[in-house]
Amino acid sequence: MSKTAIKTTCPYCGVGCGIEARVLDAENHVVNIAGDPQHPSNFGRLCSKGAALGDTVGLEGRLLYPEIDGRRVDWPTALDRIAAKFNAIIAEHGPDAVAFYVSGQLLTEDYYVANKLMKGFIGSANIDTNSRLCMSSAVVGYKRAFGADAVPCNFEDLERADLIVLVGSNAAWCHPIAFQRMRQAKIDNPALKIVLIDPRQTSSCDIADRHLAIKPGMDGLLFNGLLVYLADTGALDQDYIERHCEGFAEALATARASAADFTVLANRCGVAAHDLAQLFAWFAGLDKVVTVYSQGINQSSSGSDKCNAIINCHLASGKIGKPGCGPFSFTGQPNAMGGREVGGLANMLAAHMDLENPAHVDRVARFWQTDSVARKPGLKAVEIFDAIADGRIKALWIMATNPVVSMPDAAKVIEALKQCEFLLVSDCIANTDTVELAHVKLPATGWSEKDGTVTNLERRISRQRPLFQPSGEAKPDWWIVSQVAKRMGFAGFDYRNSAEIFKEHAALSGFENDAAQGGRDFDISGLATLDQAQFDALVPIQWPVTSKTQGGTARLFEDGRFFTDTGKARFIALEPRAPMHAPTPDYPLVLNTGRIRDQWHTMTRTALSAKLNQHKPEPFVEIHPQDALRWGLKANALARIESRWGGMLARVDVSEAQQPGSVFVPMHWTAQLSSHGRVGAVVNPVVDPLSGQPESKQTPVRIAAW
Ligand code: SF4
Repeated sequence: MSKTAIKTTCPYCGVGCGIEARVLDAENHVVNIAGDPQHPSNFGRLCSKGAALGDTVGLEGRLLYPEIDGRRVDWPTALDRIAAKFNAIIAEHGPDAVAFYVSGQLLTEDYYVANKLMKGFIGSANIDTNSRLCMSSAVVGYKRAFGADAVPCNFEDLERADLIVLVGSNAAWCHPIAFQRMRQAKIDNPALKIVLIDPRQTSSCDIADRHLAIKPGMDGLLFNGLLVYLADTGALDQDYIERHCEGFAEALATARASAADFTVLANRCGVAAHDLAQLFAWFAGLDKVVTVYSQGINQSSSGSDKCNAIINCHLASGKIGKPGCGPFSFTGQPNAMGGREVGGLANMLAAHMDLENPAHVDRVARFWQTDSVARKPGLKAVEIFDAIADGRIKALWIMATNPVVSMPDAAKVIEALKQCEFLLVSDCIANTDTVELAHVKLPATGWSEKDGTVTNLERRISRQRPLFQPSGEAKPDWWIVSQVAKRMGFAGFDYRNSAEIFKEHAALSGFENDAAQGGRDFDISGLATLDQAQFDALVPIQWPVTSKTQGGTARLFEDGRFFTDTGKARFIALEPRAPMHAPTPDYPLVLNTGRIRDQWHTMTRTALSAKLNQHKPEPFVEIHPQDALRWGLKANALARIESRWGGMLARVDVSEAQQPGSVFVPMHWTAQLSSHGRVGAVVNPVVDPLSGQPESKQTPVRIAAW
């Protein structure tokens, strides 16, 4: 194959694999996809989803033209209507009457411009993202402990560890290339220990020395027990605690109150005492430990506390800021971290600054040359849809996401959107469950047409580069937002390309960010002078990137200095809490939701690949044989799953991988693909009070043959 390879980045999970794409036929969107051997996150490997990207880049299902109330219109008509409607609603009801609900599928440049418009010029912080459902508890954990949303580790640390603890993560299916790196690390170093803590026996067990099938929701308690064990066995790093941390005594006392007795602890966690003892002994005795945690930790009403319970153990043993060490959140989307960098969460300002810090607000206001910067946090994802339902929000702009399928209590979300005075959706897909409800539909460019950057889960910024010209009248999201901003009367949105936006974003990150004064964690000012050619040629790089760290930064906290006011990391005292809704006689099972190997989110792209659809062709419910017997369910028959919030149908998969008393259902199916297979209709809308992340892993349900 002689075509020139275009280096770009996979648009699915947070591993952010590099791709070499060769366009074979531009007119018919035929492209050969291979892993980029030089990309440091995947070194040429791709999983099934990434390898099948060539099946998803055709015109089938694309939204190609703007529409208002079902009629095709031209761009100026659509943009004028949007600007006029937003201005009218803001004039009558104030800036908090409008909201944006955006996505980890957006590029950093798209995210930056959307956040600038809402927080900097409309003057509300009502912009939140589907990343709220994915990593917001991890953000709270990092900010409380380190004073910043800063992931310490990188993938290489997995290969340098003596012990990897995987908690609430089925990395084999959800972050497959990171998992393959762990598998290879174990082959290369048989002494490497891997322990999986997960209620389910998943494919990630394949490489685990031990699987602790913990009772759902008990992770915080387990890590409190580990903290007590470290203290009682002389495994604390007293010097590290004294020099670099604060709050240890209170955290230990609180942990002791909940987890003093080892036998009781093992029983409450539902794990064999000898397995728990082995995990604790390895954690205490081995030098290099990485704890990987994902949605099993984050998607919980106490997800933030669970993250800090993990971080506490790494601080207490000094296993952080060194090669092969650290707490390492695996987040789901290709650009979950890029969204955080620009302030894509309703409780963050741009460049990791804080809405509630007047100095930060003043700094951003001067940089953006505006007097309107929001000064209080906006509504988080679940709150946004509640506010639409009760009439506080009149206009919503949804970008590149499908909340009708992905949000908990989905029936309520549909009703809210139906009564929204003005619903605007920009997307590359024509007929998602959400796009169908929109008053105005705007065609956005898709992955193979986009041009900008994403940041993966190890802080690595990579380029997404276009393979084709935009299809139909599709436009980049940053262009659409900028055009609306200008029509609303705002200056500062005259961008000609994504390179200009990236430069501005990089410059803001370094604006008055004085390292000598402590500084902020997110600083990519070393990239603020890139010209177009340099931006085009940008190679993957991990932030911070400053004048002193031009090559990027592989690992944080190596000097034992954190981003808190004192420069010390904070232990957090934690009292473990059970899931908000316990099973009842009417709803006796716990519903756990998650991804499957070969589908992505609401399947708008991966379902276009016949190969990917072969893996799991329809919604299924995994249930233990005892429970199947008890509720009269036969393998491969249909079952109805019901909660207090709604119901769905799924094919029965009887499996001992599932614990008695709980069931698992994948999150992907939409009402369009399977009219009764949408699990979001069943999931409870409970959220973590600190992070706002929904408790998508623990909804009480009942099940019956259908
Ligand atoms: Fe890599 Fe994730 Fe894409 Fe798979 S889905 S190729 S692991 S980025």
